[in-house]
Amino acid sequence: MNTQPKWERIQGIVLDAVGTLIKPTPSVSEAYTEAAARQGVELAPELVRGRFHAAFRGDLVQGADGVLSTDEGVERRRWRAIVARVLPEAPDPDRAFDELWDHFGRPESWRAFPDSAPAVEAIREAGMRVCIGSNFDGRLHRVVAGLPELADVVEAIVVSSEVGYRKPHAAFFRAACERMGLPPDRVLSVGDDLENDVHGARRAGLSALFLSRRGEGVDDVPSVTDLTALTALRGAEA
Ligand SMILES: [Mg+2]
Repeated sequence: MNTQPKWERIQGIVLDAVGTLIKPTPSVSEAYTEAAARQGVELAPELVRGRFHAAFRGDLVQGADGVLSTDEGVERRRWRAIVARVLPEAPDPDRAFDELWDHFGRPESWRAFPDSAPAVEAIREAGMRVCIGSNFDGRLHRVVAGLPELADVVEAIVVSSEVGYRKPHAAFFRAACERMGLPPDRVLSVGDDLENDVHGARRAGLSALFLSRRGEGVDDVPSVTDLTALTALRGAEA
């Protein structure tokens, strides 16, 4: 099966946010470790990192509409559960959650990857539509608005808590396509999560490109190691 994106058909690109366009700075494990330290609990960052990855992968909280359904309240409960799993030693779990929720809602806690803005600009200059499609919640609007590299070039942000379903659910990708005014077979999904950004997108009828910033490829999945591949679109026929 030829899995390469059919570039000539693509008229819009949906870009994942975390790990694709932006990254937490300091790292997630540092932020959690510091939150614990503020309550007098010293934890090894490696331990925190391992706990976070296990908790983040587990679908701890679901919305009323079943698997992968969500809204702002569900996301808050989900993150409260994740913080509790990662920092069970914290004497004041509510404080830990509140501090970390606020921390990751601030643009100062994030950086755009150097290739992010050039890629978005190239997509737009090629005459394509572009949107951010993310499993972040409503806080993402403020984060992106506060990152100067992205604030001026991103025209639309689609977040799962506002759509009602998280990636990789097809309803999420349908909403992103509708937001761009394009049918799924004209849209390319690009992101660093194989299931959420690639397989889920394909099941919904989109093309997909796996962003593998560490360089590990996957059979039958077209991949790039950074977003500069998208800057090749600049000057391409719209
Ligand atoms: Mg991601």
